[in-house]
Amino acid sequence: MLQTLKTYFGYDSFRPLQEDIIKHVLHQKDTVVLMPTGGGKSICYQLPALMMEGTAIVVSPLISLMKDQVESLQANGIAARAMNSNNNETENLSLRRDCIQGKIKLLYISPERLLLEMNYLLKDIKISLFAIDEAHCISQWGHDFRPEYTQLNAIREHFPQIPIIALTATADKITRQDIVKQLNLKEPKVFISSFDRPNLSLDVRRGYQQREKTRAILDFIAKRPNQCGIIYCLSRERTVKVAEMLTKHGISVAVYHAGLSASARDKAQNDFINDKIQVVCATIAFGMGIDKSNVRWVIHYNMPKSIESFYQEIGRAGRDGVKSDTMLFYSLGDLVMLSKFAIDSGQQAINLEKLNRMQQYAESDICRRRILLNYFGENMEHDCGNCDVCKNPPERFDGTIIVQKALSAIVRANQEIGTRMLIAILRGNYSEELVNKGYDKLKTFGVGRDIPQKDWQDYLLQMLNLGYFEIAYNENNHLKITPAGAKVLYGQEKARLVVIKNEEKAISKAKKGGKKIEKVVQPIIPSFLSNEEMDQELFEELRLLRKRLADQQSIPAYIVLSDKTLHLLASQKPTTLEEFGNINGIGEYKKERYGKDFIEIIQKMTSK
Ligand code: ADP
Ligand code: ZN
Repeated sequence: MLQTLKTYFGYDSFRPLQEDIIKHVLHQKDTVVLMPTGGGKSICYQLPALMMEGTAIVVSPLISLMKDQVESLQANGIAARAMNSNNNETENLSLRRDCIQGKIKLLYISPERLLLEMNYLLKDIKISLFAIDEAHCISQWGHDFRPEYTQLNAIREHFPQIPIIALTATADKITRQDIVKQLNLKEPKVFISSFDRPNLSLDVRRGYQQREKTRAILDFIAKRPNQCGIIYCLSRERTVKVAEMLTKHGISVAVYHAGLSASARDKAQNDFINDKIQVVCATIAFGMGIDKSNVRWVIHYNMPKSIESFYQEIGRAGRDGVKSDTMLFYSLGDLVMLSKFAIDSGQQAINLEKLNRMQQYAESDICRRRILLNYFGENMEHDCGNCDVCKNPPERFDGTIIVQKALSAIVRANQEIGTRMLIAILRGNYSEELVNKGYDKLKTFGVGRDIPQKDWQDYLLQMLNLGYFEIAYNENNHLKITPAGAKVLYGQEKARLVVIKNEEKAISKAKKGGKKIEKVVQPIIPSFLSNEEMDQELFEELRLLRKRLADQQSIPAYIVLSDKTLHLLASQKPTTLEEFGNINGIGEYKKERYGKDFIEIIQKMTSK
């Protein structure tokens, strides 16, 4: 098994569970695999397909996914092909011939086509195994339900003896049971791998206004030249605005949302996959068809509606295992909007609960990864060292007086105001509405003038999360004090708020030569995440070569070599074909095909 892994894929070892899963499949048994995105599911059926006699039939829901898989396999010299509505008749004819002659090791096929071929092509070839990719599409409860998937029970009827392996990144129990039941699996073994993705850093920015988000995003991208990423926004309009802003700053970007034509969406997706653009600004419509392994970062411009969505979206970064970054902006406005969506959704209770858990994540002052894994039912015993809380733990202070000012203003305005009016009252800002209602006569009018508007927003968000007041979504978003809030208001309890870290202020103060504001906390990044002594200049040259080779063959650059392999080349600098072939991620085929070109550049650059 290890030999085959190295020869074809160039990897030196298996990831956790891969070996057990492969053995199970080789024993002709039914298997269910649950692994997070980027966990390494494909090898679990591709390796058995190579080792078993006959052709493996792989069912996949999207043409773009099949294309990606087939291209990566072919790039490793493996006989893989796809059969779907993209093929013309001549292609199909030769493909059928090749299949019947036993020349194909893996045949990717859409579920519709599979059903059509059940009594024809499939009866004429020797089948080694069936792999059902994205198997959660079978479940009506999930987010990617595909009606054609429910007919896949025909596989077992027609081919009772052939093992089936079903794979998905969706972990919940109902989906899992649906998969087993509907595919009619025989005493399947279910393999569930850890959902941890330690190479993804986690960072939450609370209460940023638009201008600050813009600045943070530009800064973030500037620190990551040539690295591509995705910015997820809540609305279509916002994707367009963010894209315009980035274009103005010279960043190549595309927009992707469900309101665009199919061809515009395809173009955006292809340009991104082929590194023709650096950034995609997208709604959640973007993602499922993306297997691009070198997405280096994901930013959430707005908070997602649940931890599942969030995790799936950030999971699109760093599939190749290389260190990748994520950043989530989280504001009171998002929360109000998402709560409205949840309430109007028809599944109010569930969706509010999901939003609530997402909010807890964003507000957490313990290691964020612990919260995520805990949500997926995994227990993590230690802090991760790769999230903003671990790197920079929040500091708290006695904020009782601040809280009392706000709560008192709410009470004096008869609990009939929203956050905007509340801040106006606290800051003593006149407006027609405010004066008409007589709020300028309140005792609390202007008592919070010393705190900037933005910081008030932040404190109010904290107070909401501490449960001091609630937002009455059915009453114009008016604020209502809770019993916990009343305790603070009447001095029975103290309130501990988190110190607001204002980066803008911090930077300008530091620049003015003031004293250092913060102690420098050394991030504890696990050693495998740091780029071990990589030669940056060489890396750039190798990257350009990779791009040239990719363009010549019209395949994405990450399929020629992954970012991880490229990093290894730039740090280990092999100068012979043998050394080149020893690099993790380079199998026999790639060694023969690309070895000379890469070695040449490495020799040239290192002899300078
Ligand atoms: P998934 O389908 O679970 O999202 P993939 O099968 O696409 O994940 O694998 C993610 C990445 O990890 C790919 O780039 C793949 O080549 C790589 N990978 C898989 N198994 C191994 C391994 N044993 N060693 C090193 N890299 C691996
Ligand atoms: Zn952490």
